[in-house]
Amino acid sequence: MAAIEKNTPHLMEKLAPTNLYPPAPWEFAKINLGRLKIDKKTATSAQHLARNQFLENLDNLQPGELVAYTDGSVDPKSGNASSAIYVPGIKLQKGWKLKKYSSILSAELNAINKALDICYDATESGVTIYTDSLSAILTIANANKNWRTHSVLLSINRSASNLAAAGIETTIFWIPSHTAIEGNEIADGVAKETLTNPRAETIQNKLTINEIYAIMKKGWNSELMCDMKLLKRWNPIWPKLGMKSWEIGRNTEETLILHRLRTGKTKLNYNLSKYDPLIDPLCPNGCPEIETVGHVILHCPTYCKERTDLILFCQRENINLTISNILGLTEEVETKHKAALRNIILNQIKKSDLTNRI
Ligand SMILES: [Zn+2]
Repeated sequence: MAAIEKNTPHLMEKLAPTNLYPPAPWEFAKINLGRLKIDKKTATSAQHLARNQFLENLDNLQPGELVAYTDGSVDPKSGNASSAIYVPGIKLQKGWKLKKYSSILSAELNAINKALDICYDATESGVTIYTDSLSAILTIANANKNWRTHSVLLSINRSASNLAAAGIETTIFWIPSHTAIEGNEIADGVAKETLTNPRAETIQNKLTINEIYAIMKKGWNSELMCDMKLLKRWNPIWPKLGMKSWEIGRNTEETLILHRLRTGKTKLNYNLSKYDPLIDPLCPNGCPEIETVGHVILHCPTYCKERTDLILFCQRENINLTISNILGLTEEVETKHKAALRNIILNQIKKSDLTNRI
């Protein structure tokens, strides 16, 4: 086996995920999930109430039960993310870095996963994990639906199954953060410290679709800001660089809108759905059609009234009503008409209240 692993690492890598094949719904391990009976707001204003409830819960644990505190942290500026655990019973506190741009939910789930892993080797009684992430608990509660998005759930399930097979019960319990519960504060501190620790171990977590989308959106925005800066600086001399007069608006914003309409890189559903499979490409106004630039400008019944000027102009000047024609992308339309069409389209977008979606 070792020889195979050495000679064909790529094969082993391919085979490895089979351990993580999703279990059938009835095979998901039983994890007890619970929470303090206090909401976050009350807990923050009356910390002693939260702490007393927590101490009561701690008192009710079985003798020998191992307790772990988990926490996740992200720094939106740098995109760094970390998971941390604190297991007082074995005097262990440890943090891991995650892939850049991991979400806080991923950080919390990975922390729980690590805690389960470590507790498996350290106890023969039960395991109770205290987390301050209610969304992590809810995500675990619906693991049979959520494992597609959060593959770490399969790993959590495997650890819980292993513990169950050894007769060890697993409990994950929500406690409010920032209520001076010592274990939680320590895990929080370790997570924050790990964010900037260059020597911290790394978890090779798989980014979720939403996390990847967020990265792309970020890239897109910075590209856009570059565009804006460039356009601001270059707008007066675009014509000298070969940009046609009807391609330029009265200001940077208008020029950008014209540019996006022509390239299709808008925030309309069809374009967004290319980056995020969770976005429906259909028109949000209930039409059974994909929301493209052509649909909103030429066809969507919602903007019927706002389209009147365009229809009348094209009828009068005998211009075929196609999206390439009205955006000045064909030679079929005379230059003087292209400039008029530019103004009509800009006006229509504004009247249709679509400026923020282009
Ligand atoms: Zn529509």
